[in-house]
Parts: sequence; structure tokens; C-alpha cells
Amino acid sequence: MAEHTGRGRTAIVIGGGLAGMLAVTALRGHVETITVVERDRYPADRTFRKGVPQARHLHLLLSGGQRAVDRLLPGTVAALTAAGARRLYLPRDLLTRTPTGWQRRFDERRHPTLSVTRPVLDAVVRERVLRGDAGPATRVEVLEATEAVGLAGDARRVTGVKVRSRDGDRSAGTARVLPADLVVDASGRGSRTPRWCAELGGRAPQEETVDSGLAYATRMYRPLDQDGAPEVGVNVPGWPECPRGAAYVPVEGGNWLLTLSGVRGHHPPTDETEFAAFSATIGDPYVHELLARAEPVSPVHGFRDTCNRRRHYERPGAIPDGLLVLGDATCTFNPVYGQGMSVAALGALAVRDTLDAAGGLGPGVLARAQRAIGRAAEPAWMTAVGADRPYVGGAATTAGLGERLTTWYLGRLAARAAIDRVVGAAFRDVFCLTAPPSRLMTPHVLLRTVLLPRRPGLPHPPAAVEAA
Ligand SMILES: Cc1cc2nc3c(=O)[nH]c(=O)nc-3n(C[C@H](O)[C@H](O)[C@H](O)COP(=O)(O)OP(=O)(O)OC[C@H]3O[C@@H](n4cnc5c(N)ncnc54)[C@H](O)[C@@H]3O)c2cc1C
Repeated sequence: MAEHTGRGRTAIVIGGGLAGMLAVTALRGHVETITVVERDRYPADRTFRKGVPQARHLHLLLSGGQRAVDRLLPGTVAALTAAGARRLYLPRDLLTRTPTGWQRRFDERRHPTLSVTRPVLDAVVRERVLRGDAGPATRVEVLEATEAVGLAGDARRVTGVKVRSRDGDRSAGTARVLPADLVVDASGRGSRTPRWCAELGGRAPQEETVDSGLAYATRMYRPLDQDGAPEVGVNVPGWPECPRGAAYVPVEGGNWLLTLSGVRGHHPPTDETEFAAFSATIGDPYVHELLARAEPVSPVHGFRDTCNRRRHYERPGAIPDGLLVLGDATCTFNPVYGQGMSVAALGALAVRDTLDAAGGLGPGVLARAQRAIGRAAEPAWMTAVGADRPYVGGAATTAGLGERLTTWYLGRLAARAAIDRVVGAAFRDVFCLTAPPSRLMTPHVLLRTVLLPRRPGLPHPPAAVEAA
């Protein structure tokens, strides 16, 4: 392991997951050494590891996230496709049942979505980052099986990370301090930065939560006969009157992932027999019928912590100098909207752009970078929270007039988007994170959404593709 002197430009990234790896890419060229502290040992092959428990579940990388990843690490989308990721163009290749009927299959081809298991996605990105083919040389080392257990410094400035080895050697259990000029917390949804800042005498950041109470259960399938497999993915999200949903998508290796979901009182079971039965109770029988032509090839895995949670580190005084917080550590989303990885990538890109524009890590640059991370998360936060509001009960969160209007408008717009090319294109631009939410308020989208009569979607999953 390298000697850390604390002099020069030394960065530590806590968490060697997706956001951590993209943080390395963003910092490359701006620091001399980057040490990634990762509590897991990476598996030799591209398989599941415990530190990313959500990796068992269906993960789609939206077009906005792909663009950000490719700007940070050019060629990654092609590498993912070469690793077997399936490209699903929206809305053509993801048959979607909305509350009012099936969405029309316009051959729009503006939003390719990547469908791949999460261990493969993470491994492809990690291999590319650690191979160092993504930018100017900065020394990067990874301390695997090493857990961050605290921050060093004081309420004004973070000066390092307290770490503990998780290997069964003599040093396991004893914390030591790794000094650093810059610390990035990319430790995911379980981030302990609020507690660690409090231990340094600082304040915990302001936190907002909007919890729809959704739970996931996921199982991998293999079509019995590849000719009988559907050619495209299927998405039947829940809606307030039928709060159970399913998404069934192809991934690498000829397998398919089925994720069932449901809000409070409708959580999908993890028992194998009940799991299949639950798929018959969602808003449409199509997915259940497809399962008759596939065999399960994995157990069922559940996941319950799906809350939208945002920690406002970008607000003045919310964070000590020398610290950045990125990815799920700062903002998590209800996973049905498929946004988290893309927002992590957009945040990392925002950091890189900020450092590039400032010409490096000068005074005030980290605060600017944290604000840029906050701005990168804003559109996804607004849409996820606006769409989730109808599921949130009680006084835990109070929606203001603006947010109630957003919810009403989004509901109407989503229904129109299922059948209308113009509104649909705007809807996808925003939900795929390639355009700001203001795109939903342009005059022609607004007028079509508010004035045109509500019409049902298609009665059956559409077989035919319609020209864009
Ligand atoms: C059920 C589910 C489904 C989802 N589906 C989608 C989807 O379809 N599309 C999408 O874009 N997003 C989806 N997401 C969100 C996505 O999983 C996250 O946004 C993404 O993983 C964030 O990356 P991250 O690197 O911030 O965190 P993680 O991927 O969770 O990585 C955190 C890393 O930090 C390490 N770590 C944690 N604590 C420490 C510590 N103290 N010391 C050292 N290392 C530590 C962990 O081992 C891990 O390697 C989903 C989330 C869930 C829960």
C-alpha cells in the first residue's frame, strides 16, 4: 500500500461501486493519487457481490445516463453492448401498459435503453476505469476489503478517512487514518456521512424523503424455446387503483429478469410459488402468460428500501471543505423510474466539468462541484417525487401547490404520452434525462396535454411498430 503524506493532491473515494468508479474518472488529471476504499473484495468473474445488494434486481441504463457515462469514459456503451447488454429503444422495444391501455410502439429511436445485469454493468465500467484508458495518468489504487468507518478533520475541513480492514488478518478491526486533500463519499444508499459529519462537530445535512412504500421481488428466467421468447421487453407499472406492477426484460446471455413490485399492502412475495401467482394479479395478464414459456433459473430476491431520499449537501454550510458526496450517498430514487445510475453518472460528469472549467481544485471549487451534483439530480428528483406523490400517505411529507400541480399535470401527460407522438417524445426526453423538465411545459406539449380529450391506449400489447 502507498504511503499517504497528506501533501500534494491526494484523493480518497469511499466506495468502489458505479459512482465511485465514475468519480475516479472525474478526478483523473486533477489529483496525483486516488485511493478507492471498497469494503468488498471484487469477484474474479462478473458476479454479484454483497456490497451492492440491489444488483440482483432489474437495472436499465437510460439514454441520459449512457451519454454521461460515454462522455466520462468514451466507448463504455459499446463495451456494455459487447458484453451482452440488450439495447431497447423506447417506446418501440419496451411494451408498456399504462393505466389507460397499452402504449403505441412508435419507431422513434431517440432513446436506446441498456438492459444488462448489474454485476456485468459494474464490472465493465470498473475494468475500464482501472485499466486507465480513460484519461490522463493519475495513480489509482484500490484498497479492497477495507471499510471506511469515519472521517478525520473537524467541522470545517475533512482531512482524511478512518478505515478498517475487513480481511481476517491482524489489522482487522483496528481503525487507522488515511490522510487526503479531498474525500469523495460514493458509498451508496447506506452512506454514513451525516453521522460522520456530526462526529466532527458539524451538522447533518437537511434531508427530504418521499416514500411510496414500494417493494421489489426479482427472479431470473430463461425462455424454454428462444424462438418463443418475446422479441421485446414488457413493462406494466402499477398505478394507484392497481398498485402492483411487473417488468420483464432481456439481459445478457439469453436470460430475462422479471421484477415484480407493489406498494404497501401489495408487496410482492419472495416465496417462489407465490411469486408466480402474484404476477397474475398485476394490471394485465400478458407478463403472467409469458412465464408459461420460460423456466426460472434463480431464486427470488426481495428489496424494500426504495424511498426517494435526498440529502442537501449542496446548500451553503452543509458540508465541510474537502468533502464531496456523489451518487446514492446524496440522492436515491424510487427504482421504478430507472434513474439512479444515470444521476450518479450525470453527477460525476458535473464534477469533471466543474474541475475542468476551474482549471483544478482551487478555493471554492468543491462547493461549486457539490452544487453541480445537486443540479444534476434535480430533474430526476422532481419527476420521481411528482409521480410518487399519489402513493404517499399521512403527514410524513406535505406537498406544496407546485408539487400537487406537477403530480396532476404529470398524470395527464403520461396518459397522453402513451398515444401521442409529440407528447410522448417530450415525456421520454425528460424521463430519460436528456432534457430538462421545462421541455414538458413547451406550448405545444402543454396544449396537447391539457386541451386534447383523454383517449384510451391500445387494448392489447401491440405487435406492430408504427413509423415515428
Ligand atoms: C431495487 C433497485 C433497482 C434499481 N434499478 C435501477 C435502474 O433500473 N436504473 C438505474 O439507473 N438505477 C436503478 N437503481 C439505482 C441504482 O442501484 C443506484 O443508483 C446505483 O447503484 C448508485 O451507485 P452508487 O455507486 O452510488 O452506489 P452502489 O452501487 O450501492 O455502490 C456503493 C459501493 O460502496 C461500497 N461501500 C459502502 N459502504 C462502504 C464503506 N463504509 N466503506 C467502503 N466501501 C463502502 C459498497 O460495497 C459498494 O461497492 C435501482 C436501485 C434499487 C434499490
